[in-house]
Amino acid sequence: MLLSGRKGVILGVANKRSIAWAIARAAREHGAELALTYANDRFKEGVTELGDSIGVKHYFPCDVASDAEIARLAADLKGALGRIDFLVHAVAFAKKEELAGAFHETSREGYHLTQDISSFSLIALCRALKPMLERQGIGGSGGEERTTSVLTLTYLGGQRVVPNYNVMGVAKAALEASVRYLAADLGASGIRVNAVSAGPIKTLSAAGVNNFSSLLDQMPERAPLRKNVTQEEVADASVFLLSEMARGITGEVLFVDAGFHVMGV
Ligand code: NAD
Repeated sequence: MLLSGRKGVILGVANKRSIAWAIARAAREHGAELALTYANDRFKEGVTELGDSIGVKHYFPCDVASDAEIARLAADLKGALGRIDFLVHAVAFAKKEELAGAFHETSREGYHLTQDISSFSLIALCRALKPMLERQGIGGSGGEERTTSVLTLTYLGGQRVVPNYNVMGVAKAALEASVRYLAADLGASGIRVNAVSAGPIKTLSAAGVNNFSSLLDQMPERAPLRKNVTQEEVADASVFLLSEMARGITGEVLFVDAGFHVMGV
C-alpha cells in the first residue's frame, strides 16, 4: 500500500487501454483516493464507468487547451479533496497528418497545437495546482511532511529520431525539459516532478502514429528483455514515483521500455 492515505488527480483516461487507466487502477490498489478528469463530454460516460468500477468518487471535465478549464479543475479539486499529494499528466495530442511522412512538412499550426496540448499543459497544471500540492518543512528541522509528486508520460521519440513520431517527438523533448525546470522550481515546496518514458503500447493515441505496429514488432527482437511492455508495467513504476519510496528522486526520466533505449544497434 504505497499510496495509503494519499489523494491525487489523474488526467488522460480515455478508455480501458489508456496508460492513465492502468495508473488509476494501480494507485487505487495501493490505497489512493482519486479524482479522474475527462477531456470533453464525449469521454465522460466511459471514464465514469471505468472509475466507478474501482471506487472513484470524483470526476471533472478538463480540456487542457483551456486556461479557464484548468482554473475550474483547480477549484473543483480543492472543493472535493482539499490538498492533493499527486498529479498524473498522461495527455498528448497531434493531428494524424503530422504523425506521418517528413518532419520538415510540419505545419506551424500543427506544431503549436501539439506543443500546447502535449507539453505546455504540464506547466499550466503545475501552476494551477501548486497551492494544493505544496508542502512546507521538507528537509527542514521539522521534516515531518512528506513530498508530493507530479508525473508525466513521455516517449523515446523525444530523445532520438523515431520515424513518423515527428512533431510529437519535439513536444516530448520540450516536455522532458519542462520536467527538469519544474523540478528545480517546485522542489523547495516539496513537490517532485518526474516522467516515465514508456515503450510503445497500443492505445488510442498510439494508433495516430503512422506504422505504429512496426515499433511494437521490433521490441521482442531488439529490447534487452525481448518483449513489449504493458500498461501495468508502466503503472507499477508510476506508483513508485508517486510514492515516498521515490522521495529522493526529481527531475528524472525513468524508462519503462524493456531496456530498448540502451541499445545502439
Ligand atoms: P490515450 O489516447 O489513452 O491517452 C491520451 C489522453 O490524452 C486521452 O485520454 C485524451 O482524452 C487526452 N487528451 C487529448 N487532448 C486533450 C485535451 N485537449 N485535454 C485533455 N485531455 C486530452 O493514449 P496513451 O498512450 O495512454 O497516452 C497517454 C500518455 O502516454 C501520452 O502522453 C502519450 O504520449 C504517452 N505515451 C504513450 C506511449 C504509447 O505507446 N502508447 C508511449 C510513451 C508515452
